[in-house]
Amino acid sequence: YALVVGEALIDMVSQQTGRPLEDVSSFECCPGGAPANVAVGLARLGVPVRFVGVVGDDPFGRFLRRFLAQAGVDVQGMRLTREALTTLAFVGIREDGEREFVFYRKPGADTLLRPEDLSPEVVKGASILHHGTITLAEEPGRSALLRALEEARRGRVTISLDVNYREALWAEPGRARVEIERVLAYAHLLKMSREELELLSGSGTVEGARRLHEAYPNLALVVVTEGAAGSWAVGGNGQYARADAFRVRAVDTTGAGDAFLAAFLWRLWRLAERQRCSIEDAARQCTAEELRAILRAANAAGALTVQVRGAMTALPSQDEIEAFLQT
Ligand code: ADP
Repeated sequence: YALVVGEALIDMVSQQTGRPLEDVSSFECCPGGAPANVAVGLARLGVPVRFVGVVGDDPFGRFLRRFLAQAGVDVQGMRLTREALTTLAFVGIREDGEREFVFYRKPGADTLLRPEDLSPEVVKGASILHHGTITLAEEPGRSALLRALEEARRGRVTISLDVNYREALWAEPGRARVEIERVLAYAHLLKMSREELELLSGSGTVEGARRLHEAYPNLALVVVTEGAAGSWAVGGNGQYARADAFRVRAVDTTGAGDAFLAAFLWRLWRLAERQRCSIEDAARQCTAEELRAILRAANAAGALTVQVRGAMTALPSQDEIEAFLQT
């Protein structure tokens, strides 16, 4: 199974496109949180998946747990707490589909992940562990995640990281970089935006990705998404591939990166199954051609998601991706 660790929260998505967030009077309540989106995305694509995270013992938290369960995610590791409320993210949508965020109630329940939430058996039993960096911004989530990564590395579990850097979540500005670099040292699969690549390597180009490979030999693939410009990736063996995005009309880009990532991991998962090797090895050994096909499928998942409002509600199935790729 894929083990996904991190935040599940509610996206309050503006129904008034083009208005600044403070003038919006009507919102749609959508389940969200980047890791939770990836978990649901993987389940839709037929990958067995467990989600570990904390939500409030409130109507929003119970709604999230039910939503993930109905999507086919194993939610045994999803804990409801009375110590904090489920986080709400208010999402404003600009005319071009891009978003702005305001978070309500920090620290929310999602930061209360504890080491006990991630038993060594559950971590070591996974084929892949996926996480983001937001968990690192607060204790006890930070320690819980670091312990799980240590366990995963010892158990040779493939580790996938979405950098997902949000400046506003870090109390001290300089700390984010230190913390992100700490988890980079565990990751095999690394996904980020061009801006994040520039932040971490000094360059948002292929050169920047190569620098990361040099600094972190544990990395098998560095993947960069560029919104409507598509995506590209550089492998540790020097493979390079890029794929243009599909031309679609974007209604809401929330969750595009998560849909992309779920489809990316699903394709790698399939490749590893075919080759009877670990996901890390499949990623390390894939050819530039295989890599391009994986990026194309992931772009298709992103393109399907931006055409629908909300994140989790928009994540595509295998059939939808295959059909889209045929057109
Ligand atoms: P994030 O949601 O993390 O900001 P991106 O915006 O880079 O991530 O989107 C991830 C992927 O989704 C892109 O690489 C692309 O394939 C697809 N995508 C995003 N926005 C669009 C768009 N406007 N049109 C077509 N595809 C898109």
